[in-house]
Amino acid sequence: MNMKPATAKISSSALKHNIQVIKQKAPNSKIIAVVKANAYGHGVVFASSVLEPLVDGFGVARLEEALALRANGIIKPILLLEGFFSPKDLPIMAVSNIQTVVHNEEQLVALEQAELSNPIKVWLKIDTGMHRLGVHLAQVDDFYQRLKACENIAPELGFVSHFSRADELDSDYTQCQLSRFLTATENKVGERSIAASGGILFWADSHLDWIRPGIIMYGISPNERIGKEYGLKPVMTLTSSLIAVREHQQGEPVGYGGVWVSPTKTKIGVVAIGYGDGYPRNIPENTPVYVNGRLVPIVGRVSMDMLTVDLGINSQDVVGDEVILWGKELPIEEIANKTGLLSYELITKLTPRVLTEYID
Ligand SMILES: *Cc1c(COP(=O)(O)O)cnc(C)c1O
Repeated sequence: MNMKPATAKISSSALKHNIQVIKQKAPNSKIIAVVKANAYGHGVVFASSVLEPLVDGFGVARLEEALALRANGIIKPILLLEGFFSPKDLPIMAVSNIQTVVHNEEQLVALEQAELSNPIKVWLKIDTGMHRLGVHLAQVDDFYQRLKACENIAPELGFVSHFSRADELDSDYTQCQLSRFLTATENKVGERSIAASGGILFWADSHLDWIRPGIIMYGISPNERIGKEYGLKPVMTLTSSLIAVREHQQGEPVGYGGVWVSPTKTKIGVVAIGYGDGYPRNIPENTPVYVNGRLVPIVGRVSMDMLTVDLGINSQDVVGDEVILWGKELPIEEIANKTGLLSYELITKLTPRVLTEYID
């Protein structure tokens, strides 16, 4: 008997493969590998050390994430994609060589008033139509002049923006955002970056000096298609195992609330993963798992530590057999499409209880 609890199996060869795919798509651009949120749930220590020789820098959302990379020995540039949150962050960023986005007046003033050991590299964030972060187009010249004049800011500025609809291939909104970005930065000195995964895959004109891949590095498509269609390989396989296989009579319910009642005599498999591991609780009927070469449906409610599957009356599965919740055999995008959740959510909501195993 050998039963394994919920485990994320992580493949460094898949991660390296995906970087090569990205480089083929955008051969003239440098890469900021986005490793925020624990490298999208894949383990930031693992991901950053595999990626460091292959990319030109890293992007994170929190200073704490940047410092964790430095503590882990990462020496390449690190960019705070949302900028810093407090003037107190600035001296720490200066000594740890952490670059920042500036997207508002408050951040600019904090930089102007700081006393720093050395200048910080700044990327001016321009709102080209996402209308979430960034300075308005009409403010760009003013910010540019003030950034240029600020002694706490390294002389080589960068410019960034972000697409809101890059996954919509039939929308002209992305082209519109791109041309606003190009116009706003025309005749200004500095490298430019606007493309995240959607831009990299679908909008070659948007690659510019730096691309910022996130989800596609992990082998997952940014839209409802499957990553494989773009040549990507999933880095994570989420697995667990059968901890019980039970004879089940016709008409018997299974699990909390007895919401599912078996229409036939069958065998129920109990899998050691639940919402306490980050597997979603509210899933529609017939959401599948992969077991011994086939898909079987989850039946009854997902509980905290377990879920139940209908293995079928003639099944041969035994306790200890591996169950795949998502991975190459069962793309996470299919689970996302089925549940109405984003793949981004599924991977970042896994909890620390899930074990990690590095498979190659
Ligand atoms: C998260 C993020 C990215 C990466 O986005 P993906 O869709 O995962 O590629 C790129 N740029 C910024 C500013 C981000 O916040």
